[in-house]
Amino acid sequence: MKIYDMPDLEGHFGPYGGTFVSETLIAAIDELKAQYLHYRDDPKFQAEFAYELKHYVGRPSPIYHARRLSGFLKGAQIYLKREDLNHTGAHKINNTVGQAMLARRMGKQRIIAETGAGQHGVASATVAARYGMECVVYMGSEDIKRQAQNVYRMKLLGARVVPVESGSKTLKDALNEAMRDWVTNVQNTFYIIGTVAGPHPYPMMVRDFNSVVGRECLAQMLEMAGQQPDVVLACVGGGSNAMGIFHSYIPDESVRLVGVEAGGEGIATGHHAASLSAGSPGVLHGNRTYLLQDSNGQIIETHSISAGLDYPGVGPEHAWLKDTHRAEYVAINDDEALHAFHTLCRMEGIIPALESSHALAQAMKMAPAMDKDKILLVNLSGRGDKDMATVAEYSGITF
Ligand SMILES: *Cc1c(COP(=O)(O)O)cnc(C)c1O
Repeated sequence: MKIYDMPDLEGHFGPYGGTFVSETLIAAIDELKAQYLHYRDDPKFQAEFAYELKHYVGRPSPIYHARRLSGFLKGAQIYLKREDLNHTGAHKINNTVGQAMLARRMGKQRIIAETGAGQHGVASATVAARYGMECVVYMGSEDIKRQAQNVYRMKLLGARVVPVESGSKTLKDALNEAMRDWVTNVQNTFYIIGTVAGPHPYPMMVRDFNSVVGRECLAQMLEMAGQQPDVVLACVGGGSNAMGIFHSYIPDESVRLVGVEAGGEGIATGHHAASLSAGSPGVLHGNRTYLLQDSNGQIIETHSISAGLDYPGVGPEHAWLKDTHRAEYVAINDDEALHAFHTLCRMEGIIPALESSHALAQAMKMAPAMDKDKILLVNLSGRGDKDMATVAEYSGITF
């Protein structure tokens, strides 16, 4: 099997990735890179991380064979990697635990984070409480209105939520504000990024912390099915749950990797968040990658039924996997995701996150055309409890 050893020392995945930050952050980035590379190979750090994942997060998450759903579709067998069963209900906690442990070792007492839907804010506030650290979360004031419950959760966990009033008052503005805070308070502050984006080493580091998911799958699939899956599918917002499950499978080219972006109201309408399917290369949030931008390089507002996929960029490693054709990227629109959501509820008694429902919808599209002995493994990145109001609204039901 080919060895996959990305990124290079400067954080490049082919022409993507890198470190595009202001002069004032270079020292902080260099310190982070040196410390991460040290602890990545430190058996004590890795042992503590494994302990936390087991006893705090609740890993390993099981794999579930969705037999009724597979039978209904009359095709390939669908298996679900149950990241929805993690503490706080999604894969994001894997990464925030890792980064908070690193922050502690670096002597940083203060955590900052940016959040759109609030999920990464909650995961960051959770680990800050767990380790007794101060936590400040930047959130666009529009998002604060739309995600009142997550704002309340963050506050319960002891975090301070700072409304961002600039620009479109959403995620990209919150990211800029978090960067600004980091520049100002770099001595005592650790910036926890919530996906495989940002300047090097974040895309690599966040991937490494999430790659426990794919490593577990390698062992669990052999045990359950006696073979590896034919296809691995995951939704792609920034791309952290997808990189988490893809990473261990990249060297095994007999396994197809399919990333599923948010097609929103359809790519042709322009109301979507499909950076890889419909974007072009540029620089955002400290790295070079595929972006949704206009002809002047201005970032375009995105749309998706799932707030967690509503991001105008994507991690640079996905840009590389797309260009080299090691992974395929497709888009699923709001209606298709909602249909998959309802189907899993009724067929298996599992309420998935709307983000994860995009990956599931793609599996449901592919399964009927495949033989019954083929296997589709879907990363069920989170649970749908947070999405009740959205689903009710789209379905025209009062909640
Ligand atoms: C945040 C989130 C995502 C999208 O983030 P990625 O970095 O693309 O994984 C997907 N699923 C769930 C449940 C989320 O909370």
